[in-house]
Amino acid sequence: MPDSSKPEFAAKLIDWHGLHGRKNLPWQNTCDPYPIWISEIMLQQTQVSTVIPYYVRFLQRYPNISTLAAASLDDVLAQWSGLGYYSRGRNLHKAARLIVEDHAGRFPDKIDAIQRLPGVGRSTAAAIAVFAFGKRYAILDGNVKRVLSRCFGMAGYAGLKRNEQRLWQKAEGLLPDAAEMRINNHVEVYTQALMDLGATVCTRAQPKCAVCPLQEDCLAFRESRVKELPSRRPGKKLPERETSLLILIRQGKILLEKRLPTGIWASLWCFPEISGAEDAYRYCSSRFGMEVKPLPPMDEFHHTFTHFKLRIRPLPLQVVSLSSKAALERDAEVKWFNRDDALDAAIPAPVRKLVAKIDNSRMPPSAMAPLERVE
Ligand code: SF4
Repeated sequence: MPDSSKPEFAAKLIDWHGLHGRKNLPWQNTCDPYPIWISEIMLQQTQVSTVIPYYVRFLQRYPNISTLAAASLDDVLAQWSGLGYYSRGRNLHKAARLIVEDHAGRFPDKIDAIQRLPGVGRSTAAAIAVFAFGKRYAILDGNVKRVLSRCFGMAGYAGLKRNEQRLWQKAEGLLPDAAEMRINNHVEVYTQALMDLGATVCTRAQPKCAVCPLQEDCLAFRESRVKELPSRRPGKKLPERETSLLILIRQGKILLEKRLPTGIWASLWCFPEISGAEDAYRYCSSRFGMEVKPLPPMDEFHHTFTHFKLRIRPLPLQVVSLSSKAALERDAEVKWFNRDDALDAAIPAPVRKLVAKIDNSRMPPSAMAPLERVE
């Protein structure tokens, strides 16, 4: 599709949106920047259907910037539980406090100030500026990258700076101006249309080219390159690390500890972690004053982070005696959870996966019963 067809590209999208676009999502039909911001952050890497219940609950609990700023980080992360990518929740909380301190509690309306908020990148700032303030900025989220790469036959992994810059130039060049569109809220409708097309038609797997409004001019479709675009990350093996997680069970409850505020799974509740070389029995004894015995084993599995793969070895252990119960209970960073409370807490995805596997039928009755020895 040549650049001279810019008004046509936008017109086709806008017409398509009139018929098939999403117009009644809970964060639409408002220009209040707060709910728009929350939705844009939740929608990063996450599908609309997953986000909706979290969004509704979050807005009920924190209806505005000041309630979010006044909340504890723990509470915000617990609300985020299950949505994944917890750094988004941490950044929302940090940004709300910053808005209260630096902007007198009013969400900034200048794109530079929006983009300086923690967790807000260029595309998210642009989406907020478009939907909340009607400003004319291009967005380039994952869905839009895919539509542009395919439609304009743009090869090259978008994770590389120079390829991403080319996509930004294309996105900016395609932005319609009001005169071209002859509708009042043209930027909002165009932006929503582009997002919706990427999410519902030009999907990653099995795009619906037969019903796509851009099909006629789409280079990937014309040249049968839909499957190869967008270009994937060049094959590079991620380094592997390994860890052992101690699943300590006592009277049907599991021990979780709050991690430090930095590093992986920062500030989240997690099973105590030891290195592969450490002796689990000695560790439990010296750190918690516990005597433990093995429970039926659980399979190892991998969890992939952006820069490495983590091989996780779960070690289910039953606590048979505890010499310093009082000391353990005084430690605010260590807590016994029953299974349902753990699933409601701010826990990372691999811990969630393991907690979900701990059920009464799998555990010997002794793991659920009171301690065998007097503490
Ligand atoms: Fe995507 Fe197919 Fe439409 Fe091209 S024709 S933009 S590949 S859905």
